[in-house]
Amino acid sequence: MISTSKNQIMKIALCYKSEKIADETISSIKEKILSYGFELDDSKPDVVLFIGGDGTFLRAVHQYYNELSKVKFVGLCKGHLGFFYSYDESELDVLFSDLKRGVCKSESHHLLSAKVDNEEIYAINEIRIESPFHTLISDVYINGESLETFRGNGLVVSTSLGSTAYNKSLGGAVIYPQIPSMELSEIAPINNTIYHSLHSSLIVDKNSEIVLKTKTDNILLGYDHLNKNLHLASSISLRLSDKVVILLRNKDYSYTKLLKSKFVGDK
Ligand code: NAP
Ligand code: MN
Repeated sequence: MISTSKNQIMKIALCYKSEKIADETISSIKEKILSYGFELDDSKPDVVLFIGGDGTFLRAVHQYYNELSKVKFVGLCKGHLGFFYSYDESELDVLFSDLKRGVCKSESHHLLSAKVDNEEIYAINEIRIESPFHTLISDVYINGESLETFRGNGLVVSTSLGSTAYNKSLGGAVIYPQIPSMELSEIAPINNTIYHSLHSSLIVDKNSEIVLKTKTDNILLGYDHLNKNLHLASSISLRLSDKVVILLRNKDYSYTKLLKSKFVGDK
């Protein structure tokens, strides 16, 4: 159910990449929103409608980060993989009628947070450290205990929801998003008789802490579509945050069906 305070008109914000979606498409979606009796409001919306690809959802979550307790997200897929979407272009009326009747399924997803040298960052898919040209060296601690000294191109810590993104390309397991967890996956690990790491993905429960103590300079810290440089060796403490993102799905949505349609296919 979508809760707006009693007798209040639901306010909807649109998120899209203006270079990817035609102005006419946006105008006709706006008209439809008004014709269903909703209001358009980008600053204090009840619902953020993201239109485009999965990257648009990531950008929408970061844009409305300070409003996450009040905002719900729903996606209209337009010509992309669309893992976060449950309505496609042809289903505008279904979407607005579901919103009006409050029959969408509501999912909560914990953000991943990292404390990096006293600064806090967060992600919905994953947080990662990467160094493509010089071997990245990082100590890895799980709940205060040393696991390994990793050497390779990088390490990715993914949420369950993000497990189908970068994590999957690294051979990590896909995790049903209703199981809150963090998954640590390796990028091009060096494994020989001198250097060893676990050499498989590792899934830890929602209360765990993963600490990465990097020993090399000039590492890239990636979080969703964003990144920054870590010029000096750093300590990165990763946990699942209490902050949740609420994603609305259509009432027929099933994760298994989604996996089949996006990754396996029908043949
Ligand atoms: P992008 O390069 O367009 O994203 C790469 C692909 O990942 C796109 O096809 C995107 O779908 C898809 N995707 C994003 N989140 C997903 C999820 N949770 N499950 C399944 N697929 C997902 O860049 P972007 O759109 O800014 O997205 C940033 C994300 O790209 C990062 O969070 C990271 O997960 C991913 N990435 C993947 C690799 C890799 O697989 N080697 C490398 C770097 C980054 P859309 O086309 O619908 O946007
Ligand atoms: Mn994208």
